[in-house]
Amino acid sequence: MREVAVGIDIGGTYIKSGLVGSDGQIWKQYSVPTEASKGRDILLDRIEQIVRSYEHLMIDSDFQLSGVGIGTAGYVNLQGIIGSATDNLPGWQGTSVKKEMQGRIPYPVYVDNDVNAIALGECWMGAGRNRDHFICLALGTGIGGCFIAEGRPYRGRSGYAGAYGHQVIAMDGHSCTCGLKGCWEQYASVTALKRISLEMASGFKWAESPEEVFSEARKGVQIAVDIVQRYSEYVAIGIANLIHIFNPTAIVIGGAVTAQGDFLFERIRSNVQKHTMYGFADQPELPIVPAELGNMAGMIGAAKLVWLGN
Ligand SMILES: [Zn+2]
Repeated sequence: MREVAVGIDIGGTYIKSGLVGSDGQIWKQYSVPTEASKGRDILLDRIEQIVRSYEHLMIDSDFQLSGVGIGTAGYVNLQGIIGSATDNLPGWQGTSVKKEMQGRIPYPVYVDNDVNAIALGECWMGAGRNRDHFICLALGTGIGGCFIAEGRPYRGRSGYAGAYGHQVIAMDGHSCTCGLKGCWEQYASVTALKRISLEMASGFKWAESPEEVFSEARKGVQIAVDIVQRYSEYVAIGIANLIHIFNPTAIVIGGAVTAQGDFLFERIRSNVQKHTMYGFADQPELPIVPAELGNMAGMIGAAKLVWLGN
């Protein structure tokens, strides 16, 4: 018998799922729309249907299902309950995803935050391969993070560790969605990049789109270059704080901006050098690298939760 796990990554738009072996081989995968607006019960039904579809595939095969791993947006506590969720998943907050699913399917169920799952996926099969201690960041609408310690997500007291986007880098700074002021994600998320662009290049049409800002900067347009420089310094300041706290072996960065490659990463790297103390990020230089698995990372990492057994 070949043991396999179902990995499920619940995003605001799509649920990605796959059948993953203990060696990381993906045997089957597919996505369905989340349709989160239909509410939490429909979402739970949908997760069950996904598991049933893989279960069905296993009839008369030599596969055996070992468990189900679920990565989901929102803060997930150590009991598999959604402590708080984004507006993308209405009604999800307070749901005991682990208990609900265990009541529906006869397999062990593991639930974690989506960025923890991404980090675990990268640790297993991506940019964090052969690294036991590294920081994974997801730069998007906000900033998610995870510290992988000894090959596992460090979860903290209640499971909420990794809220790096809410480290305050400016007292009395910009208001954050969390209710605090001056949070890093108000300066270094993609949403923040849009704001910085509009502030620094008001009146320029290209300033409305981060992709176009990068494209102008690549052409050498000075204001656009200045925007990218300023943005990358904000990104670097938060990373420097994390480097001083965790002394990690690498920083892995995911999210759409990573498509900018070295044009962005070289600036982040040199700014990190500028903002870190001697010995933390140099000699040799601490690797700051893009994530490798793209939108597959969360699904792969969710399956890995099963193989880790937590
Ligand atoms: Zn915040």
